[in-house]
Amino acid sequence: MTRHHVAIGALGGTIAMTSAEPSGGAVVPTLTGESLVDAVPGLADAAEVRAETLAMLPSPSLDEPTIMRALAWARAAVDGGAAGVVITQGTDTLEESAFLLDLFWDHPEPLVVTGAMRSPQAAGADGPANLLTAVRCAVSPASRGRGVLVAFDDEIHHARWVAKTDSMSTSAFRSPVFGPIGRCVEAEVVYGVPVGRLAPLRLGNVRGADDPRVPLVATYLGDDGYLLDRLRAEDVDGVVVAGFGAGHVSPRMAEAVGRLAADVPVVFASRTGSGPTGRAMYGYPGSEVDLVARGAIGAGWLPPVKARLLLWALALTGANDHDAVRAAVAERGTP
Ligand code: ASP
Repeated sequence: MTRHHVAIGALGGTIAMTSAEPSGGAVVPTLTGESLVDAVPGLADAAEVRAETLAMLPSPSLDEPTIMRALAWARAAVDGGAAGVVITQGTDTLEESAFLLDLFWDHPEPLVVTGAMRSPQAAGADGPANLLTAVRCAVSPASRGRGVLVAFDDEIHHARWVAKTDSMSTSAFRSPVFGPIGRCVEAEVVYGVPVGRLAPLRLGNVRGADDPRVPLVATYLGDDGYLLDRLRAEDVDGVVVAGFGAGHVSPRMAEAVGRLAADVPVVFASRTGSGPTGRAMYGYPGSEVDLVARGAIGAGWLPPVKARLLLWALALTGANDHDAVRAAVAERGTP
């Protein structure tokens, strides 16, 4: 039987964190990609794995350039013959990395992201099981052509909709509204939805800012637009506002949105964690109808952090004028 080769790139996170104190203390990233692989029983039966350590960071310390370097590494691994790629990282920003990778992943080979909620020294550590699931997912022919996937707790999610929805549970990931697209059961990877994905953004078109700046501003009760008004249009490549409910803000915040949207794309998203921005339901000052009239763009089903990364990626490719952003958000913010 031909054994498939899977490349594993480790970025750090709880899956790679240990404590110096044997009795257990605060953990920090210490483990290489190779030691993660060595800790997984049965992995050698699933695939021939080659592990590399790409970074050793807690995931709040990752940034877009680090993820773009991981993307380049993953592309090189597939060009070098890997049947699939797995990236391990911290769970805190995993949904963002996976989404950014998916925007640019232009291979049919699966790129699967995973991590762990319990560190390797903890009782019931979930890293080995998640890594095994991710490798099985990466070699499964059923995973081909689906873009970037997140394998966690035996479930498989698409990068576009997955979100970390619990700060401590081992089942921390959900895809609100749409649900997981597959499961790994008795070593078999099974999908409930047909193969398909949106066309990736073209990296060859990169001609925009090297490291675009796209702030995310969360609104709150009584927001008078103070923070948004501090942003100067010339310093940013776009802005995302995490609004109430279906993407709403206060009347004074709506005025601030309008002032900024005159010069840079401003996208409003829902801070609820589930469901889309409205389109035509409400007409009061600060509603979706009002914000669109002021030049802002509704994120649709994209949550604030993913709308922000889409703007970042568009700015990277130099295609972030209002019309380009409107079109891209309409396409990627729709199921
Ligand atoms: N809690 C995190 C994790 O699960 C820490 C991190 O994101 O690096 O990996």
